[in-house]
Amino acid sequence: MDPFDSNNTEQANLPRNMIENSMFEEEPDVVDLAKDSTAFPAFPALDPDEVVYEPRSSRLLVRGLGENELDEEEEDYESSARLLGMSFMNRSSAHRPSSSPYTRQAPPRSCSRPSARTMVVCVLFLVIVASMTMVLYFLPGCTFTKSGCPKPNNTTPTEPVGPDFPWTKLRLPNSIQPLNYDLTLNPDLNTMTFTGRTVISMSVWHNTKRIVLHSAELNITKATFQIGDGKPSDVVVLEYKPRQQIAIKLAEELKEGQHCVLTLDYSASLSHTYDGFYNSSYTDKNGTKSVLAATQFEPLAARKAFPCFDEPAFKASFLIKISRKPDYIALSNMPLAKTTNITKDLVLDEFERSSVNMSTYLVAFIVAKFTCFQRNVSNTLVSVYSVPDKKEHTRYALDTASKLLQFYNTFFDIDYPLRKLDLVAIPDFLAGAMENWGLITFRETSLLVGNDSSPLEKQLVASVVAHELAHQWFGNLVTMSWWNDLWLNEGFATYMQYTSLQTEFPQLDIGNLFLGVRFRALAKDALNSSHAVSAQADTPEQVAEMFDSVSYEKGASILLMLNATLPKEQFRKGIIGYLNKFSGLNTVTEELWNSLTQAEVPPYHQNVSEMMHTWTLQKGFPLVTVSCKGDQVTLKQEHFLLTADNTTQTSSLWHIPVTYVNDSCSLDPECRQVFTLKSKSETLKLPGSVKWLKLNYKNTGFYIVHYGDEGWASLTEALTNNVTVLTHEDRASLIHDIFALSRLGCVSFRQVLYLLNYMTNETETAPLTEALLQLNTIYRLLDKRQEQRLVARMRTYILDHFGALMDSQTWEEEKSVSKQELRSALLGTACSLEETKCTEQAKDKFKQYIESNGTMRIPGDLQRVVYTVGAQTEEGWSALLQMYGHVTYDAEKRKIIQALASTQDTRRIVLILKGGLNGELFQPQELPLVISTVSGGFAGHLFAWDFVQENWDRLIEKFPVGSFAIQSIIKSTTSQFSTQAHLDQVQGFFTSLKERGSQMRSVQEALETIRLNQRWMDTILPTLRDWL
Ligand SMILES: [Zn+2]
Repeated sequence: MDPFDSNNTEQANLPRNMIENSMFEEEPDVVDLAKDSTAFPAFPALDPDEVVYEPRSSRLLVRGLGENELDEEEEDYESSARLLGMSFMNRSSAHRPSSSPYTRQAPPRSCSRPSARTMVVCVLFLVIVASMTMVLYFLPGCTFTKSGCPKPNNTTPTEPVGPDFPWTKLRLPNSIQPLNYDLTLNPDLNTMTFTGRTVISMSVWHNTKRIVLHSAELNITKATFQIGDGKPSDVVVLEYKPRQQIAIKLAEELKEGQHCVLTLDYSASLSHTYDGFYNSSYTDKNGTKSVLAATQFEPLAARKAFPCFDEPAFKASFLIKISRKPDYIALSNMPLAKTTNITKDLVLDEFERSSVNMSTYLVAFIVAKFTCFQRNVSNTLVSVYSVPDKKEHTRYALDTASKLLQFYNTFFDIDYPLRKLDLVAIPDFLAGAMENWGLITFRETSLLVGNDSSPLEKQLVASVVAHELAHQWFGNLVTMSWWNDLWLNEGFATYMQYTSLQTEFPQLDIGNLFLGVRFRALAKDALNSSHAVSAQADTPEQVAEMFDSVSYEKGASILLMLNATLPKEQFRKGIIGYLNKFSGLNTVTEELWNSLTQAEVPPYHQNVSEMMHTWTLQKGFPLVTVSCKGDQVTLKQEHFLLTADNTTQTSSLWHIPVTYVNDSCSLDPECRQVFTLKSKSETLKLPGSVKWLKLNYKNTGFYIVHYGDEGWASLTEALTNNVTVLTHEDRASLIHDIFALSRLGCVSFRQVLYLLNYMTNETETAPLTEALLQLNTIYRLLDKRQEQRLVARMRTYILDHFGALMDSQTWEEEKSVSKQELRSALLGTACSLEETKCTEQAKDKFKQYIESNGTMRIPGDLQRVVYTVGAQTEEGWSALLQMYGHVTYDAEKRKIIQALASTQDTRRIVLILKGGLNGELFQPQELPLVISTVSGGFAGHLFAWDFVQENWDRLIEKFPVGSFAIQSIIKSTTSQFSTQAHLDQVQGFFTSLKERGSQMRSVQEALETIRLNQRWMDTILPTLRDWL
């Protein structure tokens, strides 16, 4: 899935995440907890049925569920308590469900016919025993063991399970394996309901008397069960709603090796949110409204469309039938097999049985009035579907997908396994795209572009298509066993999207984008609230939160680092070996490293597992400090944690492939030297002394470098004398690192400004956009703190350093993607700082645009700048709102939304926020974009925060707790706060939410960010006052 709102053109204007400490503990690695299940005798021993299902290759990650569940609840509670400044002694037992199976196990005590003294003794005794029990009870069984305590599961039910429900865990038992699903779905787009029949053929893996599977919001009307060739008989279905599970209990035990069939009839409403089987509508250019139904199942919503074993490791085949009206089409994962008439107004489409086994989250179906262009590519029929009005806009995606399909067929050395591949643009779709096997769904912006769309818009489409196509191998063919290893899907697809585009579409200049992605991943991972790439994820919220920058962007960054470290071809050879070995199966991270190690090219040997474990099993990344004395170079590593106080010091070490170049050879790849730093400090000897060293060549490594005062001074001097002494990636990397170090408190802000002095000679996109992004972040923080004098001086500083370049930008069509990126960042900044030349030009363009009634084309990369300036007057705003209804391109519509949301008029801010929430002005999918844009402005940022607080419940109805949309809303509304008062307010609000969101990682991240902002502002304000 691509959950990101990829509006890269605005990168330089977006606030970058910043960081502050919190007091959370390091996340230990996932370990085997099952073996500890006897530590608490009161807890019933696991029967074989109760070991949660893990496929054969994931033994290391088997999680038992026992006393440890409580530990985490305690630990979370403790963390929260500390976070909220609460006394840990005050914890109430009320947060523990009274029906907890553990409390029921307390042994009965009695004092028969007691005397008063005996009573006192008894009471005292009871208090002591109770206290000790409590202490022992709260201390995990592993407390006194040599290995200490692993982080436990958090799967204690929040509500008591009814006495009849035969299962007490979030993960399903592994006694039953589904083999095939026959699904029949009958959606009614008039009543927005559907009925369905699911026939599941299953195999018994362990003797059992129960079958447990998932179902959510389905009204099951009939259930029959059949063993082997026996007669089907009616069965009662039990439901436990809090965990979205249903179960049947059997009188006789099913025996290992038996086959059985469960048939379930049900009805349900089409979902009004963006997951499950949901309804959507759009209005065509004639004003006619059309409705459609589509699916989005990843990660946990297949259960909302059909009862199923909704975990990625339960792969099965699928045969899908859907009824529809004759003027609609139906699409599913597989090609259409046949169509039969049911009635005069209803036909039934039956699709081929899937030729490969699939995880449930990859199943998809759509009923809509779409049209397509299609083409045969290496035995696969590739089609791109859209609403009829936009059919012409699908050609670019068809060309791109065709080319990329051939690329991946060759690169992975395994042909795409299905006979067809559909790419479908859905008018109302929350994520960027979703990789359903054979039926990839997209937002319109991520798939549709016209001939005259800008290269930057085409770059976005190509990039999302490349990501989703890579998933057809990474994710679909070989799937992670559980969501803790989501990065195996997402990190890989993200890495492949950049690699494939660099090879197949060099004109799209994807390199800068990938560099920016790595910087963003570092920013998130420098927070204490970050998590390991392979992290524990048990509850639905935790699973949802795995779809974040760590899984995607850090995942891709460490793969880049690894590929740059291994001998040429080893990486690809290892990947091909891995895909072949696990084709159709599920895996864990370790298997990937094993395959990559096995592909070694002698005499070179690298234990990939040993190196990569340091990058995937611990959170964060290293700060490498380098110092030179003559030809002796000392390298040190420590955890780059922006909140490095005594309570959060960690002893983490990484295997870092440190690359370096020096003043005599710094540009060509051949100049690059590598040294693997494994311990805390090591020394290396150079062939001779050097004037300076630049580490992390082209920033392919996932670490930040500190050069010490002398080192920074030498590099600054070298750049001031000659900009081209380093590659543009290296220059961007220096700018990124020095700002990060300033936040850490390692370099003074004076040193930052000193380095930036060279910028007047800089012309390349990557270093310029990085510098602008960093300066914009400070500008916005000062602005929100109402430091008006400093804001004015910062404005002058930016215009002094970048003004000449801003002036030299053209306002006509520009072909180069890189130049578009730069122009958009420069003019976006200039106009937001109200630089006269920029605003005058933009006003002119806007006037011509409105007068032409939208027929005049403004270059895609400048649309946002022009519309935003235009939207600052009442007439301009109203004209733009009208224009919104007429514009066809979704990409342009989104820029209009951003412009409307950038208004500084408070009445209109309220109007747009409310209109977004009610779906009156825009589709609700755009609400996160509206909120984030409103938050960027001075007038709007407090409104946006109030709006989120007041409408929280409605927001989480649309965008579930933990979802990427909610993560983005929290981040955009809080990341510009930098005062104690705001910290208290944000903390107070999220604490009050309790189970409605307080436990989200993004909340911890928000609080850390505010603390960091606060500390950073306090540190740099004196320098800014002196130096600006
Ligand atoms: Zn993805």
